[in-house]
Amino acid sequence: MTPQFLPCLVNGPFDDPGVYVDFLYERRALLFDLGDVSALSPRKILRLTHIFVSHTHIDHFIGFDQVLRLCLGREKRLHLFGPPGFTAQVEHRLASFTWNLVESYPTDFTVVATELHPDGSCIIAEFHCRRGFRREYERTEQLSDGLLLDEETFCIRTAFLDHRTVSLAFALEEKCHVNIMKNRLLELGLPTGPWLAELKLAIARGDADDTPFRAWWPGAAGVEERHYPLGELKRMILNVVPGQKIAYVTDAAYTPANAAKIIDLARGADYLFIEATFLDEERERARERHHLTALQAGLLARQAGALRVMPFHFSPRYRGMEEKLRQELEL
Ligand SMILES: [Zn+2]
Ligand SMILES: [Zn+2]
Repeated sequence: MTPQFLPCLVNGPFDDPGVYVDFLYERRALLFDLGDVSALSPRKILRLTHIFVSHTHIDHFIGFDQVLRLCLGREKRLHLFGPPGFTAQVEHRLASFTWNLVESYPTDFTVVATELHPDGSCIIAEFHCRRGFRREYERTEQLSDGLLLDEETFCIRTAFLDHRTVSLAFALEEKCHVNIMKNRLLELGLPTGPWLAELKLAIARGDADDTPFRAWWPGAAGVEERHYPLGELKRMILNVVPGQKIAYVTDAAYTPANAAKIIDLARGADYLFIEATFLDEERERARERHHLTALQAGLLARQAGALRVMPFHFSPRYRGMEEKLRQELEL
C-alpha cells in the first residue's frame, strides 16, 4: 500500500508535543498541537492548512506566534481547532500585537478559529490581517459524531478527554486506499492518465457502482475514450483496501471514561501517537497531574489494536531513562 500521509513527531519525546502530517501527493500538511515548532522549516510550516490544538497549556500552544509571523503577508487561510474558550484565546493572542500598518498589505492572511464543545456545538470566528485581526464572521455550527473535517479522501474526528480541562484527541482516517493494478490496465489496453486520479476520487467519494465513468487519454487523432460503469472498472483494475489511520492522544487522565474514548478513537490505527509522560512507578503523580503513564499508554494501544505506537511527552525527570519508558510501553 502506498501511503498518502506521512506523520512524524515535530520534536524529540522530551520536548514540546506535536505531530506533523505531510501529504505525499499535495503541497499540504496538517499539525496536531502547536508547541514549539522551530524544528520545522518555514517551507513545512507554510504547507499547513489545518492545525488541531488539544488544549492550550503553554507547551501545546506556544508555537502560535511562530506560525503567525511566517504566514503574515501571505494569501492564506489557516484553520485552527481547539477546546472551549479557544476563539477568545486566539483573539487575545492576536490582540497583543499592534496592527496599525496592515490595511495596505497586498494579501489578507486569515485565521479561522473553531472552538469545539462536548455537546457537539462549535463556535467559529475569523480574523483577517487587513482588518487588524479583529474578531469577525462569528457563527455557530453543530458537529455530528465528532467529525471536524470531511474531505473527499479523508476525515478527521475528535474525542473530548479529561485533563482537568478538556484535552482533545484526534484521528485522521483516509476513506479508502485505491491501488491500480497496472498489469490489468495493460491487458485491457487502457493507457494511464489523469482519468486514473478521477477514478480514485470517485471511489474515495463512495460513488455508486452504476455511475457512468469515462476513461480518456490523448490519442494520435485527438482524445480517445471508453465508458464503463464505475463498479466494472473497480472490479477490473482496482484493489481497494481500507485507508490509513493516524491517531493523536495526549494529556489525559487514566480514567475509565477517557480509556473508552481513546480505544474507540484509535481503534485499528496504523499509527498511534500517545503521551507516556510518567513511569508506572509514579502512577500516583500521573493521576495528580492528569497524565498517562507509559504502561497505561501501552495498554490502551493494545486494546485499540494499533499497529505502531509512538510515545511522546516524556517528563524531563526521566532524561537519560528513555529506554525504560519505551520498555514499559511494550510490556
Ligand atoms: Zn496539559
Ligand atoms: Zn502537555
